[in-house]
Amino acid sequence: MKQLLFEIHNKDSLLSGIEDIRRYQEYHLPKSMVFHLYCGVVDEEWITWITGQLMDVFPDAGIAGASSHAEIIDGHLTDPVILLSVMFFEKTDVKVTCFSDVLGKEAETGRKVCEIIDSTPDIKAAEFLIQGTPVDNYAFLQEAQKCRGDVKIFGGYPIGHDVDNDRRFIVHSSGVFDNALVLVTYAGKDFHIDVAHTAGWRSLGRSFTVTAADKNTLISVDGFPAADLYERYLRIVPDENFMVNTMEFPLFLEDDGIEMLRHPAAATSDGTLALAGYVRKGMKVYMSYGDPNAIIADVDKRCEEVRQFEPEAVLLYTCTMRKMFWSYFINNEMMPFQKLATTAGFCTGGELNRDMKSGKIMWHNITLLSIAMREGDKTGKSIPEVRVDTTALHGQVGLVQRLTTLVQRTSEELRETLDNLQSANRRLMKMATTDGLTGLYNRREIEYQINEALDQTKRSGGQVALIMLDIDHFKNVNDTYGHEAGDRILEGFANAITSLVNEYEGEAAGRWGGEEFFCLLPNDTLDMAVERAEKIRRTIEDYPFPYVDQLTCSVGVTVANGKEDRKRVFSRVDDALYEAKRSGRNRVVVGE
Ligand code: GH3
Ligand code: MG
Ligand code: MG
Repeated sequence: MKQLLFEIHNKDSLLSGIEDIRRYQEYHLPKSMVFHLYCGVVDEEWITWITGQLMDVFPDAGIAGASSHAEIIDGHLTDPVILLSVMFFEKTDVKVTCFSDVLGKEAETGRKVCEIIDSTPDIKAAEFLIQGTPVDNYAFLQEAQKCRGDVKIFGGYPIGHDVDNDRRFIVHSSGVFDNALVLVTYAGKDFHIDVAHTAGWRSLGRSFTVTAADKNTLISVDGFPAADLYERYLRIVPDENFMVNTMEFPLFLEDDGIEMLRHPAAATSDGTLALAGYVRKGMKVYMSYGDPNAIIADVDKRCEEVRQFEPEAVLLYTCTMRKMFWSYFINNEMMPFQKLATTAGFCTGGELNRDMKSGKIMWHNITLLSIAMREGDKTGKSIPEVRVDTTALHGQVGLVQRLTTLVQRTSEELRETLDNLQSANRRLMKMATTDGLTGLYNRREIEYQINEALDQTKRSGGQVALIMLDIDHFKNVNDTYGHEAGDRILEGFANAITSLVNEYEGEAAGRWGGEEFFCLLPNDTLDMAVERAEKIRRTIEDYPFPYVDQLTCSVGVTVANGKEDRKRVFSRVDDALYEAKRSGRNRVVVGE
């Protein structure tokens, strides 16, 4: 395969380009051809004239194009221009299909795209150039990603040279459209493609959870307005400069473990963020920042993968925000690809890449999407390594590099401190609520839980069951075998009742003091609680305690609701226990 690139400034440059393409075609007789038009100029008439000329001479070739923020020719940016890429394929079938009005029919279009992909023999890849908002891309992608799982899918969203004001459009041989999708299918046994998106932005600080979102609108995180993140942590307020100010600090999202960046294009006064891509409730969100070191490392890694792939052509669909971030250093991260193969592309409003593990088509921001193509097997020829040229970067981004290192280290240290604090907190919490000997709740905690459960019945009605237990003649155990033995037996007693009490949600057992215990059974009726008390009593009777042949306990049971006086509730169960002792021990008595 072969890619040729032409900058179309005027009619002459188009006609001479067409002549070059025709000559190449006549000589090489390719099996198929595809044109990509990346349009940095908003002039529908002019673009239509160009596509008309191309179709006149090459009626069998497809055209796929989009408006663009900047055009990439031979691995570097041009001034705003219409960039024509033509790819010739010797053995691959490339077809372009246009859906000229997707708005309101997103899911349906997704299903049609699926049908085309699934019915194309030997298909290896599909490219989508698709309009962003107001098209509901999430709905489209949800359907489109149901296609065969082995097909690579990549693409981009149009944007304008003037990001805020220019028209964003899709180009096809049939016209220039505002709400369209062009689909390019690449099919052939000998066609190989390698697609990856490279970010380099790093998450920063703690995670937040999306609590309200609608399509591309992020409404709240952790229950507070999403724009507060920027105000609180970066002192960026929702005003007309919001987009530019937040450029280095997009949001880092996690969707089922897949990482995506989202740039907030705007914030409203009520704190809602308009993102350049979908967001869903429940996703994890972090603040993030562009770390030049990390970006360069990621791009270098990607260049090495592409080098080993031995491409014959490369497309770069790179986020407009990267260009803004790097300014004119943007070429540094694109030029290495040109050393591997002719490299063309455009600055996008969003990048599409399928996650081949889950099959999901993910919509990214801030990434450099590199698409390497080849026909036939690798030849194993030795290609020199390529890397981002960093020599010129030092002055410009040196300060940023140092500051990001500082931020990175500090937040790592803070995260560590926070982890230590949290585990110390957990330990303290445990110490404050449990009894040291038995591991059951201590008196304060079981009393607290009983009171909470009683309060709950006040609100929702119903009742709770309470069981109070006291070991029979325990003083004898201590007197006969010693205090140490007594302790072991108390541990055994706690073990025996734990398994019988923590059966349902909300149940709890605690040590009331000495050899007395209390159980809370919020779901039990009186009959059920009596049955449970009997079971505990029998279990203790048969339990293989150390030292003693047999141990028994006496049990008081009652039910109560929150409207009653608390003192009366506790004395009722205490009285029942006393009655159990008085009437011979090793028995259950109900306090009514
Ligand atoms: P009754 O059947 O009437 O309940 O008789 P009892 O001997 O169990 O009751 P009493 O209240 O006379 O004695 C309770 C004993 O429990 C006294 C005390 O030494 C013992 N005890 C309380 N706490 C502990 C403890 O933590 N470890 C040990 N080993 N013994 C304890
Ligand atoms: Mg006692
Ligand atoms: Mg006792």
